[in-house]
Amino acid sequence: MFRKLNSFLAIFALLLVACSSDSEPETVNTATEPPKETEDQLIARALAIHDRVLTFDSHADTPLRMIEPGFDMSERHDPNESGSKVDYPRMKEGGLDAIFFAAFVAQDIRDDEGHDRAKILGLQMIDTVIESTQKHSDIVGLAVNPDDAYELEKEGKRAIYIAIENGYPIGRDLSNIELFYNKGVRYITLVHSTNNDLADSATDSEGPEHGGISGFGEQVVQEMNRLGIMVDVSHGSEEVFYDAIAMSKAPIIASHSNARAVTEHDRNMSDEMLKLMAENGGVVQLTMLSDYLRDRPENPELDAAIAAYQATLKPASEMTREERAASREAIRQLNEQFAVPPATVIHAVDHIDHIVKVAGIDHVGIGCDFDGGGGIDGVFDASEVANITIELVRRGYTEEEIKKIWGGNLIRVFQEVQAIAENIQTGNAS
Ligand SMILES: [Zn+2]
Repeated sequence: MFRKLNSFLAIFALLLVACSSDSEPETVNTATEPPKETEDQLIARALAIHDRVLTFDSHADTPLRMIEPGFDMSERHDPNESGSKVDYPRMKEGGLDAIFFAAFVAQDIRDDEGHDRAKILGLQMIDTVIESTQKHSDIVGLAVNPDDAYELEKEGKRAIYIAIENGYPIGRDLSNIELFYNKGVRYITLVHSTNNDLADSATDSEGPEHGGISGFGEQVVQEMNRLGIMVDVSHGSEEVFYDAIAMSKAPIIASHSNARAVTEHDRNMSDEMLKLMAENGGVVQLTMLSDYLRDRPENPELDAAIAAYQATLKPASEMTREERAASREAIRQLNEQFAVPPATVIHAVDHIDHIVKVAGIDHVGIGCDFDGGGGIDGVFDASEVANITIELVRRGYTEEEIKKIWGGNLIRVFQEVQAIAENIQTGNAS
């Protein structure tokens, strides 16, 4: 039986050889390796993947722009002229399906008056986002649940989610958290660049104040767990990260943070933190801030200019609100004046590679921080985010993996946070 089959195969093979001998000898390329993909083919494959997967950017400070009089989100802005990095036309152009717009309130005086002012400003930004989604309901939709992103994607609309960056507008009143939740807020970054009543910042020049999350901050985390608001530890000190992991009943997120082993920066996360994030089931969302992505090139002119300017200032504690804002603006301008070359997509994906290596493919995502300082060479604004996908494809990431990075992981955490909130509210919490 086998011999018969073998001889049949032999004849069949001979016939094949006979037939193929008519064709040109150069085509006898039966090498096992597939033909090498050209650059154009790779880009086309990457763009097709980019189009198929849900692309979700977890952090943009665009509400700061949206409250500027006359700023229209349905118009395309030139990022070089206006400084704006996100509007609806550029989200569409870049194939960006969903985004968290963070109402960012800069840290200020921590008294009742300061807290009231922060709450008013936070609500103004949130209401502006809601109004914008209503006004442009033909192209975007307000999203509050994880699945909304997929539903809106099917309708060809961008999903707009709301967050708060800096827990300062909560003041000392826990009931504000439910007020924000009811407006659609689905994550809160506990703290920003200086300490607040909730937690210590990674970058406060005065050092830690609470040794992590304060007693009040712990109540805030519990209330966020109860409502189904994700706890965001970006900008928090290392102790804030460890406290959040210990205190939160639900997985946590870092909405815009990178890997410290690749780029040493207080805002980035150590390998130990990345591993714990994986154990926690949370996600680290990579951010496109040059100084968190590569070592800053030496810039003595800028250092000298900042030092000279700072020598003219009185201590921060003696400054008025206006003076502090003016000094921030002056330093921003100096940074612009003595700018160094920005980071590139290569740097960004180096960080993704590292986080995947240390924490695994299920614990990394993307939060560009557009309109909050984010924007690098190749991913300068929302219209250019597909360049991240091209670089991921170039490095061999599969469509399944890219789907996780570009939003799948964030959506998973979001779903878990909501499921845990439901359990807490129905009294089934373990
Ligand atoms: Zn930030």
